[in-house]
Formats: sequence, C-alpha cells, structure tokens
Amino acid sequence: MLKHTPTEIAERTALRINPAKTCQPIGAMYASLGIHNCLPYSHGSQGCCSYHRSHLTRHFKEPVMAATSSFTEGASVFGGQPNLLQGLNTVFTTYNPDVVAVHTTCLSETIGDDIPQIVGEANRQGLIPEGKVVIHANTPSYVGSHVVGFSNMCVAMAKYFATEIETKPKSGDKIQVNIAPGFVDPSDMREIRRLAEGSGLKVTMFPDTAGVMDAPQTGEHVFYPDGGVTVEELRNLGRGVATLGLGRYASREAAIEVEKRARVPREILDLPIGIAATDRFMKVLQFRGGQITKDVERERGQLVDLMVDTQQHFQGKKVAIFGDPDHVVAMSEFARDLGMIPIHLLTGTPGKAFGRRMAEIHGAKAEQLNIKHDSDLFLLHQMIKQEPVDLLIGNTYGKYIARAEDIPFVRVGWPILDRVGHHLMPTLGYQGAIRLLTKMLDVLLDRRDRDAPDHLFELVL
Ligand code: SF4
Repeated sequence: MLKHTPTEIAERTALRINPAKTCQPIGAMYASLGIHNCLPYSHGSQGCCSYHRSHLTRHFKEPVMAATSSFTEGASVFGGQPNLLQGLNTVFTTYNPDVVAVHTTCLSETIGDDIPQIVGEANRQGLIPEGKVVIHANTPSYVGSHVVGFSNMCVAMAKYFATEIETKPKSGDKIQVNIAPGFVDPSDMREIRRLAEGSGLKVTMFPDTAGVMDAPQTGEHVFYPDGGVTVEELRNLGRGVATLGLGRYASREAAIEVEKRARVPREILDLPIGIAATDRFMKVLQFRGGQITKDVERERGQLVDLMVDTQQHFQGKKVAIFGDPDHVVAMSEFARDLGMIPIHLLTGTPGKAFGRRMAEIHGAKAEQLNIKHDSDLFLLHQMIKQEPVDLLIGNTYGKYIARAEDIPFVRVGWPILDRVGHHLMPTLGYQGAIRLLTKMLDVLLDRRDRDAPDHLFELVL
C-alpha cells in the first residue's frame, strides 16, 4: 500500500501526508465524557459530531452519546445562535444532563460564534434549568490536535468549577490530591486511581472516563453510566493539596488553571509509563502524604525482575515511536530503560515542549535522535526507510508502515481501531509497564521464531 513512499526526504512546509493526529473536538468530546451525567455538545455541523462519536466508538467499542447544533447553510452564513439555543432547550428537556459541555468545530470557529454570549442568552430565556451547568471550550481544528482539544476541555472544567476553599480539613480526613490523568484509556485512569488511593490519599480525577467508556454489558442501555467526576468533586478541587498534571500536553494547562483559581499548587509530570516515570509519580504521591504499599513494591520488583530477565532481547534494538506527545515522551524513556535505542520519535501535535522534554530525558543522546513534532506518518516512513528499526510502536495507523517495511509492531496510544482490550488493560503504572514489556517482547520473539533457521528455532526463551 505504501510502496510508493520515496526514501529521499524532500522539504515540505505546507503539506501533511497521513497526519499523526486528528482534530480538537474529538479530544474535547472524550474529556467531556469523563464528567458524570454530562452530555458533550458539538457546536457545528452534524458530520463533525458523527465523525467524532464514531471515531471514539471505534477505539473504545462503546456507544458515545453527544448532541450537535446541526448546522445547515443558514447557520453557516448567519451564525449558530438559534441552533445552540434550540439545542440546549432540547437537550435539557429530553436528556436531562447535569452538565452540557459545549465544544466548537472549524465551522463555528470560522463564523466566530461567541459561546459564552449565547449561553448567557439561553440563561436569560430560561432554557438552562436551575442547578444545571453549561461549560464550554473553544476547539478550532485548524490549530493544535485532539490532545489540545482534550486539554482545552480539562481547562474548562477548572475554569467553570474550581474555586479557592478556605476551610481546613478536619483531623482524620484523608489528604486530597487532584489528578488530571491525560488523554489515556479508562483502564489507565483506573490504574492511576488504584495507585494513588492505595497510598492512602483521596483522589479527585478530572476527567475520569472509567465506568463510562469501559462500562460492563448488563443487557440494559444506560444513557449516563456510573463513572465520571461529579460536579461536586469539581467544585471541591480547591480542597486538594496539589494537582498532578500527567502529561505536559494534555494536563499542564488544566493544572495551571486549578492553581490560578483555587490556589492549589501544580506538579507537572510525564505520563507514568515505564519504570522511571512511575517512580516519579509514586514519589510525588509520597511527598504529598501517601505511603508506598507492599503490593506496589512487589509490582515494581516484578517489573525489575522481568527487565533483568529479558534485557538481552531488547539491548541495542532500534525502535520508532509515534503518536500523542505525552505517550511518545514516556514510551521513549521506557524503551531506553529497556536497553533499546529510540531512534525515530514523532508526534503530529505541534509544540516545542516535545523536543525540550526529549532533550531532558535523553540528554546528549537526543542530538542523535530524529525528534519531530507537528509531523506526519509519511515522514516517519521515510525516516524508517533511511534508518530501519527493529520495532515500531504507535497507534493503529502504524500498521501500514509495519507491513510495508516488515517491522514488528506494537499498538499503544490512541486510536487503536483494529484490536480490542486496550481500554480494559492499563499501560500505565508498574503493571502497565509489565504489560507493555510483554507485548514488545512477544512481537520481537515472534519475529525471531519466524526468521530462525531450524537449528536455531528455540523451544525455551
Ligand atoms: S477538522 Fe473541522 S470540519 Fe473536520 S471533522 Fe474536525 S471539526 Fe469538523
């Protein structure tokens, strides 16, 4: 399929081929689903909303509920105020959410619709019932990526709900930490919560899609599943001793917003993928009053044991990693800790923080790595043609490169459209690292077995 990709890299400035990202509203919609009893609302045309819903469904294998302003020609010319007013009225009278989280699309952004003004008008007309809240995030898709859209909606949660809380906790109350988990699967959010709550802390996670995008099959359709951060929890963000923003791209701005509005200090960390990043996460929990339990020590020890037992299979192997910037940063550190050489590191999301963080993690070696932000899979393919790798790690879209170049491939990140189970099994924390390590090792050993001559076709590892 990709047999025509040339090896020679030509200078390109205004053209992306197979971008390694998608548009902002998808991220905003996913974040909104992590609020309890919330209906995401797409202010734009129907097609955008359908695409965003179906793309999320393809990854999570779960239905995604969202409303749309359903723009037609009239709204495109004269603006979408009547559509949003009518939409809010319908949503509250028919679906009765606690929160409607409005995000924009390319079209409504280009028109310049002023969402706070329209929501103010809805309030004046009595279309928003008492006790219900409409929040909004601007998510123009011609800048940023789905990660930026996710971040913008997380900022909106802080902006609309976080306030300074003066009351001191009573003795015996658990210490509260706020966690912005980043654009990760519900399984990862569960794992972060398990580690943090297991250390004895109280956790407010925003957003939290556990229980929403991994809801069990009961035979009954539930419009608003049990999970999600509640409005009350969001209003109590000010009780936290810190807000941990996991992932500089997806969570940093939200943690800053909580700090600004509620005077809760922020700690910005990498996604806790792999041993080093999870160690840093656990240390921060400890610093904030948590305890490292024996169970967590055992999980870490098991990971170390596996790393030692398998290092000969990873040592010196070249790996290309692409996808969302927070994932690529953390995965590259884990690959390095396994003894691999993370040679090509690419994200479609723009921002120089990607390169800066890579330089901090990989030190002087970063100069020898191909680190690209705001880039595409066409360039990744060319870089791999120029310097081949032993392993490719990224989302589903990498399968075409893997097939064209015959490279073992591990699916990590978002979206994974052609496999199942990823939203149920974590890749974060020590247990997630064990899972990642075994996934990587499996494909490397499958390749070794496939290519081994009879006399080297080993039964035992
Ligand atoms: S890029 Fe713009 S027009 Fe296309 S689906 Fe996303 S929001 Fe809609």
